[in-house]
Amino acid sequence: MSEIIPAAVHEKPTIEPVPFIDLVAQHSQISSEIEEAVQSLFASQRFVLGETVAEFEAAIARYCDAHHAIGCASGTDALVLSLMALDIQPGDEVITSPFTFFATAGAIYRVGATPVFVDIDPETYNLDPSAVETAITSKTRAIMPVHIFGQCAEMEPLWRIASRHELPIIEDACQAIGAEYHGRRAGVLGTLCCFSFFPTKNLGGAGDGGLITTDDEQLAARLRRLRVHGESGQYRHIEVGINSRLDALQAAVLQVKLTHLDDWTEARQKNAAQYVKLFSSAGLLDAIELPVVAPGRRHIYNQFCIRVKHGRRDEVMNFLRQQEIGCMVYYPTSLHLQECFQHLGYREGDFPQSELASQEILALPIYAELTAAQQERVVAGITDALQADSTTEEPDVVRHPNFSRDSNRRAA
Ligand SMILES: *Cc1c(COP(=O)(O)O)cnc(C)c1O
Repeated sequence: MSEIIPAAVHEKPTIEPVPFIDLVAQHSQISSEIEEAVQSLFASQRFVLGETVAEFEAAIARYCDAHHAIGCASGTDALVLSLMALDIQPGDEVITSPFTFFATAGAIYRVGATPVFVDIDPETYNLDPSAVETAITSKTRAIMPVHIFGQCAEMEPLWRIASRHELPIIEDACQAIGAEYHGRRAGVLGTLCCFSFFPTKNLGGAGDGGLITTDDEQLAARLRRLRVHGESGQYRHIEVGINSRLDALQAAVLQVKLTHLDDWTEARQKNAAQYVKLFSSAGLLDAIELPVVAPGRRHIYNQFCIRVKHGRRDEVMNFLRQQEIGCMVYYPTSLHLQECFQHLGYREGDFPQSELASQEILALPIYAELTAAQQERVVAGITDALQADSTTEEPDVVRHPNFSRDSNRRAA
């Protein structure tokens, strides 16, 4: 066979790219189920709230073991609505992590309150509880831990701090559906809990979507009102809300996908275990650090993030991209250093763990459909990158300009 392939083809061996995420592979396995759900929704023409949304809300409430679930238009809106339901307003402070997707702090800012950042635990990248206590002032109105990358924050000390200061906890579980903390699911670890169904989340819709869970009946009722302009029925508005509903079309798609979620989570966990094996036998554990799973956690691996030490992260990342191996940096800039938050007065060096993480972290492909061969390519790519002489010239990163730019890659 090789004799008939022109020499030019030989020069560049065709290797299968490893995409960072492959939603097409996921969809192809469930497309008929999805189409059926979408068709029956279209047949009903009931696109806003109604039975489909109510059924999905009930299913998520069961899944998280929460009493109430309230769908809304996005994870960001789930955070905004939660803050509104707790009457958080200008002058108030909300303590959160600087090492998260922008929306966490953006939502606090949206309602006019001030995000107060505290540093993270370097092993789990979650809020450092001891730093939370010292950040509390007379203006603090809530604590917003993020279950980053799919692993629950250290809740026990946060519960103690919250009850001592009578503060509500809002979980940002946008990356953590199905994650557990000592046997309890994300969704029932605080007063309110926010989820996102952005397509790249572990339970991802066909567009934007979000949801809030709570055990508090009054907050649930208020959230149902706030998502429809504060209307309490019959065009009576007892407060001003927003328009933020979960589309029935999204609920129909998500209902189907929910039945597969635990299988996908198990596949992600298996892939994570396989990475640990591969990296260990490649002898790379001096140069990189693997994710740490804290005691009592069910990590659902929305991301599998390694640390590349000795200042070589960007070099490794560029090398992988040149080889068409997908990887991403979550997050390259700690939120306290974002331009839009300059007026808050933070400076470089304020949160050393968060800043160091943003320089060392690298997310690798972890989706359920990832094959053993693809995982081996990822690890081989990192091995090669680390063995390459770091003083040689920069790899050519512009060879495949569109490779890492599809639209689903924005949030994680
Ligand atoms: C994705 C995400 C959000 C926002 O969710 P959207 O549905 O994209 O609005 C908020 N917080 C975290 C930690 C996220 O990962």
